[in-house]
Amino acid sequence: MAIMEVTNLKKTFGDLEVLKSITFDVQKNEVVAVIGPSGSGKSTMLRSLVHLEKIDDGTINIDGEYLVNKGAYASPSDLKRASTKMGMVFQHFNLFPHLTVKENLEMAPKLVKKETAQELSRRSMELLEKVGMADKASAYPSNLSGGQKQRVAIARALMMQPDILLFDEPTSALDPELTGEVLSVMKELAKEQMTMIVVTHEMGFAREVANRVLFMDQGEILEAGTPEEVFDNLQFERTKAFLRRNL
Ligand code: ADP
Ligand code: MG
Repeated sequence: MAIMEVTNLKKTFGDLEVLKSITFDVQKNEVVAVIGPSGSGKSTMLRSLVHLEKIDDGTINIDGEYLVNKGAYASPSDLKRASTKMGMVFQHFNLFPHLTVKENLEMAPKLVKKETAQELSRRSMELLEKVGMADKASAYPSNLSGGQKQRVAIARALMMQPDILLFDEPTSALDPELTGEVLSVMKELAKEQMTMIVVTHEMGFAREVANRVLFMDQGEILEAGTPEEVFDNLQFERTKAFLRRNL
């Protein structure tokens, strides 16, 4: 069952066509890895999916429900609905620096979900446990390593109980020795059948964990298929060149 259907998504910044006509779907429980060179439009695509960018054309359906408005920023009620369907994890964590780890997790659900403080606290501790950060519940982000911050950001996204989790290069800002702890949390989520779209430069992760790989270049999806299809039977010279540089 397709949980997300993106059809002919177009996005320009002035004269620059950043997304040319993107069409793909995401099945429930699927992990879709998006790879491709810097500047190919990967972040803009994710940002469009979660209403952080205004799209010029195309449709984005989630759960069969039309969620994104062409040519206009989302209304507050659409934003609220989108925030309950999709969670996003950013390259630079985007934690609130003035809030503790636990407060970071509870802030958004406090605004939109009708839960008691006790219930919120139970859920946030449960998720911090899950990502191995329960002992840092009262710490502030500035006292955490990059890997710890990203694990908190993942727990925070899960607090909204999203249908889909989107990751934008979640390990690109991390020192190499810290990427493993974040990737292992993501692998665990994949095992639990969380539906995920992961923009990543970690080819090993894409090959091992993704059900499907999309290769983006210059605002287009150039190749799409299972990891074997994409990595082992490349169609385009541009993909081959990219993989030669990144494997
Ligand atoms: P990627 O994530 O694949 O590196 P991006 O989506 O960040 O690619 O960027 C795609 C293109 O869009 C780049 O050429 C970038 O410079 C341009 N771009 C991204 N955001 C903006 C913006 N807010 N205004 C103008 N150009 C932008
Ligand atoms: Mg990017």
